[in-house]
Amino acid sequence: MKPPKDASSASKSLDPRTELVTSGRDTMAQKGFVNPPIVRGSTVLYPTAEDLHAHRGEFQYGRHGTPTTKALQEALMALEGPQCAGVGLTPSGVSAISTALLAVLAAGDHLLVIDSVYRPTRNFCDGLLKRFGIETTYFDPSIGVGIEALFKANTKAVLVEAPGSQSFEMPDIPAIAAVAHRKNALVIDDNTWATPFFHRSLDQGVDISLQAATKYIGGHSDIMFGTISANAQAWPVISEAIRLLGVCAGPDDVFLALRGLRTLAVRLAHHQQSGLEIARWLAERPEVLRVLHPALEDDPGHAIWKRDFTGASGLFSVVLKPAPQQAVDAFLDTVKLFGMGYSWGGYESLVIPFDCTEYRSATKWNPGGPTLRLHIGLEHVEDLKADLAAGFAAFNAAAAK
Ligand SMILES: *Cc1c(COP(=O)(O)O)cnc(C)c1O
Repeated sequence: MKPPKDASSASKSLDPRTELVTSGRDTMAQKGFVNPPIVRGSTVLYPTAEDLHAHRGEFQYGRHGTPTTKALQEALMALEGPQCAGVGLTPSGVSAISTALLAVLAAGDHLLVIDSVYRPTRNFCDGLLKRFGIETTYFDPSIGVGIEALFKANTKAVLVEAPGSQSFEMPDIPAIAAVAHRKNALVIDDNTWATPFFHRSLDQGVDISLQAATKYIGGHSDIMFGTISANAQAWPVISEAIRLLGVCAGPDDVFLALRGLRTLAVRLAHHQQSGLEIARWLAERPEVLRVLHPALEDDPGHAIWKRDFTGASGLFSVVLKPAPQQAVDAFLDTVKLFGMGYSWGGYESLVIPFDCTEYRSATKWNPGGPTLRLHIGLEHVEDLKADLAAGFAAFNAAAAK
């Protein structure tokens, strides 16, 4: 019998949508099965004393990798593009962020972080990094090349997030990266919102691209997972830190991340389309002051988004006209298809109220009304609009009381 063809051996320069399906698949090593096995393993046995002494063999120890992790790493490398020299797998998005920062920083260093950063990232910088003698300065997301003024002799890294996952400001990453590289600092990007499918950050001057794969990569709200992708310059320190810190991800989660990755393109296309349709619908609602979505033509971040991104995911925010808290709560309690919860990127729609005023330090957050963040899932868009309309009816009734 002829062996099955190996999909990953197809000709190079495939479309990313094809790469998502074919990469990381070693069909013959999987005895013909389409997907890799879930390898649970700590011990890896060596056949001879000579092999043992030479540490010979593709896999050495469970923590350092298995056939399952290898399949996911290869698939992620293909998605990240030609600049990617390696991908580390971590047990959560936050652990990807903390591992990357610990990898590139040392006592006495200075770090620049975007003011719109994911709040637990800020807590890590202001907590553990501060305790280890690393100073953090936060910067205005719209700073661009003006970031040069914030560099000190000991600035070693710049951390960006595009867009901010609550407030949706869009930083100019290539401009920031150009300054950082002139100053010999590394650029780290939390690329969770767009994923490498819509934003190839390593092609835009980023050295280390992070994902909370908990979100769109997993795609089903059923795993906690993180990834650290690095270019050739940054990969040695990242892989060293992963080894020294003992970071590794559980085999079931690795498998589910890979399974999620296979359908990422179709899911994101749907999230994008429904997300934009609802964003435009919300912008016309009388209760709405502003929609914060970089793919909308009148958004302040639109030009940068259009230049640097190939798409938008399903997460955005809306600023309501000033209203009492009980009106907002009536909205939240009335919508049924929009669950109230924090981790997004799954197939289901979500809504949460948020308030950035509590923690901003480099900029003032003055939205002008109550703010809600929406995740648009894979439900039918007309059902979602009807649900939101019911929420607004309850909102107006409560506001009139
Ligand atoms: C959720 C999230 C994280 C953290 O991911 P976890 O897997 O929950 O630890 C990091 N960055 C952004 C932008 C996120 O949305």
